[in-house]
Amino acid sequence: MSVMGIFNLIRFELAICLGKCALLFSQIFRRGGGTAVSGLVATFIQPNIQQQISKILSREVIFVTGTNGKTGTSSLISQILRSKIDFVLSNSSGSNLARGVVSAYISSLGIGGILKRRRHSLASVFEVDEAVIPSLSSRMNPKIQVFLNLSRDQLDRYGEIDSIASSWVQSFSSDSRILPDALVVNADDPKLFSLIDVGRKNSIRTITFGLDDSSVALDDSFNGQERDYCACGSHIRYELKYLGQSGAWSCSSCDIRRPAPDVLATKVVLESDRSYVEVELADRSEILDLTVHQQGLYSVYNVLAAISAAWAYGIHPADSIDVIESATGVFGRQEEFLFANVKTKIWLAKNPQGLNEVLRTLTETAESPLNLLLVLNDEIQDGRDISWIYDANFEILASRCKFLACSGSRAHNLSLRCLIAGIPVSKSDSNIMSMLNFALDRTLPTETLNIVTTYTGMIEIREELANRIGISPYWK
Ligand SMILES: [Zn+2]
Repeated sequence: MSVMGIFNLIRFELAICLGKCALLFSQIFRRGGGTAVSGLVATFIQPNIQQQISKILSREVIFVTGTNGKTGTSSLISQILRSKIDFVLSNSSGSNLARGVVSAYISSLGIGGILKRRRHSLASVFEVDEAVIPSLSSRMNPKIQVFLNLSRDQLDRYGEIDSIASSWVQSFSSDSRILPDALVVNADDPKLFSLIDVGRKNSIRTITFGLDDSSVALDDSFNGQERDYCACGSHIRYELKYLGQSGAWSCSSCDIRRPAPDVLATKVVLESDRSYVEVELADRSEILDLTVHQQGLYSVYNVLAAISAAWAYGIHPADSIDVIESATGVFGRQEEFLFANVKTKIWLAKNPQGLNEVLRTLTETAESPLNLLLVLNDEIQDGRDISWIYDANFEILASRCKFLACSGSRAHNLSLRCLIAGIPVSKSDSNIMSMLNFALDRTLPTETLNIVTTYTGMIEIREELANRIGISPYWK
């Protein structure tokens, strides 16, 4: 080994060691479970640490990205892989920047620096922020990349979504060495079509997924203001729209259209606590029936993405069904807490598409009238710019609420938005704990309090609810 090689190895070991110390320190003092600080410390000491981790993981790495659904999809893929592979590493804490990958690796290490429970096989699933994909792909060269969707989200952080889509395509085009072995792409989102094109042109195995059931298509009240454009400059038209900009689309001018999905949900039934899905595979090998124990169409898309990713990894969709049907939910997403016979359910929403889907799910499938607490914060993790609430369809809540309370640092903006939509606000206060108590007091036993919140509000409320029923307030 060269002197440089030895220097890099020592620097790597030092970075891991100090990262581990930062993690332990953070956990002892209970600073949010230490989900990002260990990666931050290690990356500061060894900036190239992701390359070294990728080598240790033998490139058995899956990246999952998109505006909505990263955490849920990554969790499902991890659970499917765990049914076949000895040890699956993931950044399940939800820290999805470059340092989150490092934090996940450090968390998985025992005191002696050896991957816990490592025996024969090893894989890793990382959710990666959409803006970080080009740089992290070039450093880690993952085997499989999963692209879920791309919609307007926290524009103050990253700029227009078209530039993000271009940056993905450019990164693959400029350096063929970072092309993955397989791409998994949502065929229903026209913004992702260029990635399918990249896959085809480079003869990369490309598995697409999508929906084909008019019974769950959006009606006109949910059609957003954003228009999508084809690379030829003409606008995209939709035969059916399912979620945000995803649907059965085609260009109004040239012959580009949604490719026939390889994993296609041909029948979807959405219920109050689950969804039934019929999935047809492009190779016509089988039609699969499955029950998803999560609400809403986003959950169905997450399942299709997870089945496709596992297929790309070598696990046939039929072998994923049992895991999908028994899959556990993820931290703070449709998570339920029960005490004093009152069920509290947390919904995470951080952009108009995500919020629209939550509101649609609540009004179409939940008990009515709704007990609803909305929380809007504007920390960096939530997105400083809260103007997106004017793109969300609050109007659908008209006459659907028993009470509606607003909270968070921008409670006043939220309550104004509701009033403009013609929805009476029972009470509005920036103090989240006081509003949580207000909402719980007004929710009768056997009823459900639904809390729809941005990220930091979710963390605060989840911690409080977890403490009340005596479970861990942090990720483990
Ligand atoms: Zn076109």
